Amino acid sequence: YAEYDMGKLADSRGGFLFDDPDDAADSSPEAQQRAQKKARLAAERATLDDKYKPLEERDLDLDALDQIPRCRDCQSIDIDQQYHRFFDVLVCRGCRTAKPEIYGLLTKTECKADYLLTESELQDRTRMPVWEKPNPHKSTWSSMFLFMRSHVEAFAWEKWGSPVALDAEFARRQAETQRRKQKKTAQRLKELRQRTQTSAWQVTRDEHTH
Ligand SMILES: [Zn+2]
Repeated sequence: YAEYDMGKLADSRGGFLFDDPDDAADSSPEAQQRAQKKARLAAERATLDDKYKPLEERDLDLDALDQIPRCRDCQSIDIDQQYHRFFDVLVCRGCRTAKPEIYGLLTKTECKADYLLTESELQDRTRMPVWEKPNPHKSTWSSMFLFMRSHVEAFAWEKWGSPVALDAEFARRQAETQRRKQKKTAQRLKELRQRTQTSAWQVTRDEHTH
């Protein structure tokens, strides 16, 4: 990111207008006009001079100052480059850390488990910007796919209707899992009893043959 010296900026700006103490003190219209003209000429000269200066010596372009990316929450220019690049979000490192409910990172597994999103939904790059990060443990392992919480939640609330509706879906799935488990247990028990009966019958028959 670009770093600018704000002190220098204010100085050069003030310098244009009031570098002549007489004009600055004199409030007559003529003196004001003189001061303005002087300022304009100085600005033009500075612009011309600027063109031929090496980049690092050029005066700050005031228009460029407005173009500096700023944090959407606090206007800081200490932008987190990764969030800008991967999520197209302008946020500073301070705000990013201070607001995990918005800027927290979720892995793909967490998105699926906590928000019940599917693999194909998580592939939607326009709705689901992703930060593909090489695995920190081993470079040959598959990358981590990180999503920003507010993106994930916006998608999930739209899919499920609301946080409450997502909760209801959770409960429904849990009940379904429970039901299947019970059914499986009942089935196992039935099979077990049948087996026991068969072997009991076998024992009885064997005893009779003796
Ligand atoms: Zn900020």
